[in-house]
Amino acid sequence: MSSINALAEGIAAPGRPTGKGSIRIRQVAHRYGRGEDALTAVGPIDLDVPPGEFLVLVGASGCGKSTLLRLIAGFETATQGSIEVSGTAPAPGRTAGMVFQQPRLFPWKTVGGNVDLALKYAGVRRDQRAVRRGELLHRVGLGETAHRRIWEISGGQQQRVAIARALAAEHSLLLLDEPFAALDALTRERLQDDLRRVGTESGRTAVFVTHSADEAVFLGSRIVVLTKRPGRIALDLPVDLPRSGVDADELRAAPEFAALRREVGLAVKAAAT
Ligand code: ADP
Ligand code: MG
Repeated sequence: MSSINALAEGIAAPGRPTGKGSIRIRQVAHRYGRGEDALTAVGPIDLDVPPGEFLVLVGASGCGKSTLLRLIAGFETATQGSIEVSGTAPAPGRTAGMVFQQPRLFPWKTVGGNVDLALKYAGVRRDQRAVRRGELLHRVGLGETAHRRIWEISGGQQQRVAIARALAAEHSLLLLDEPFAALDALTRERLQDDLRRVGTESGRTAVFVTHSADEAVFLGSRIVVLTKRPGRIALDLPVDLPRSGVDADELRAAPEFAALRREVGLAVKAAAT
């Protein structure tokens, strides 16, 4: 690719505010309902996310995290302010790959069949799907399971399929709404380890929602803590922990990790009261 093309793609200019995968949020607030029943869920918020950032949104239950994610995805239109992803207004299905708390797969299809369907919707030609499916399943640690039915695999494996499906469309943005909240602690840690690696390798921008300070520090290159409803930004913190070439368990045991987890944990508590 020529350098001019690369520049146009936003690849040669990491951190560009309108580059591919960037998010620009200006004075955004969202209200549900009208009149006496109106409820402001989130905002006003100003936020710039450069391409390639792994942003983790943390906040108490009901503070508006999912609302903000749906606004970024284009599933809802903010009642106030403006949002741009890669320099344009978000549109549902076209702006971002999404992963939810429940995997939302087709249970009667195989693992490979679920990924194939996502590739088909993404416009990948039939003769190229098998190779892409193999790459995606390998990337999320499911290389050997393409032929298995969804109901035959564990909840953790199902969530891996959901991540593979979200990666299938090659969106430059990935939105994840508490994707590991329903999993047991050990499975959750394994998925965190792998998502950290996938996030770094893919170079995509990610916004990950959680209410766990521990998960936020482990996954994020930056953490934004929201106040209680209507959620506004209480803390915006860069995470200066190594993102590659480091063992996950060593990282979790490092004193810098513990210090950040404490700082974020205290901020979440303070912001919720
Ligand atoms: P979080 O994800 O942080 O738990 P949500 O964004 O789901 O928070 O919700 C924020 C607030 O908006 C809550 O009070 C919730 O009840 C309300 N809310 C969320 N979705 C809707 C909706 N579709 N209609 C009305 N109120 C909603
Ligand atoms: Mg939520």
